Amino acid sequence: MQKTLSKNNLIRPTALKNLQIQENGDPFKILIGTILSARTRDEITTRVIKSLFSEFKNPYELSKANLKDLKKVIQKIGFYNVKAARIKQVSEILIKKYNGKVPSNLSDLIALPGVGRKTANCVLVYGFNKPAIPVDIHVHRISNRIGIVNTKQPEETELILQKSVDRKYWIRINETFVTYGQNICLPINPKCNVCQLTKICKYYKKNT
Ligand code: SF4
Repeated sequence: MQKTLSKNNLIRPTALKNLQIQENGDPFKILIGTILSARTRDEITTRVIKSLFSEFKNPYELSKANLKDLKKVIQKIGFYNVKAARIKQVSEILIKKYNGKVPSNLSDLIALPGVGRKTANCVLVYGFNKPAIPVDIHVHRISNRIGIVNTKQPEETELILQKSVDRKYWIRINETFVTYGQNICLPINPKCNVCQLTKICKYYKKNT
């Protein structure tokens, strides 16, 4: 089979990478953007985040936002009702507990409501340029398909990747795997015919 990509199949940065570039890696915007991005398509997340931050620029403004207005701004996001309340609550905590700043360590981040390991690690990578491995569905799926891990839960994948990948590469894992997962190693019908990893991929060997 021919190993080429269609000219129309342009590879775009992920929503978080876009956000990092547009907002100069502002940790607050990375945190809120990551909370909003869960279970929502990248194109929608990018658009909604832009509208949200044009109205509410920092934790002070977001904490004072009227919940009804907030829901309206983010209504295209999955679970927008819950997320509107959550981002307002997170903003309030940042002001009360951290003087309006986002904490830059995993334990304080995962103590915030609605912030799990994936979101916290995204903030460390995209907001603070710290080595961390955010394991989302793409990182989890591709790591398992290739055979780097053999895990059921993303948390297990994160721990094994931490042990098996040199720390200097951690910061690039999420963006690399998410881009690959959105364009080549798709959840259903991965494009193995254009993939350069066939020689090392367990999934490929098993299925061809
Ligand atoms: S060979 Fe197929 S399954 Fe394996 S990483 Fe490439 S696209 Fe994914």
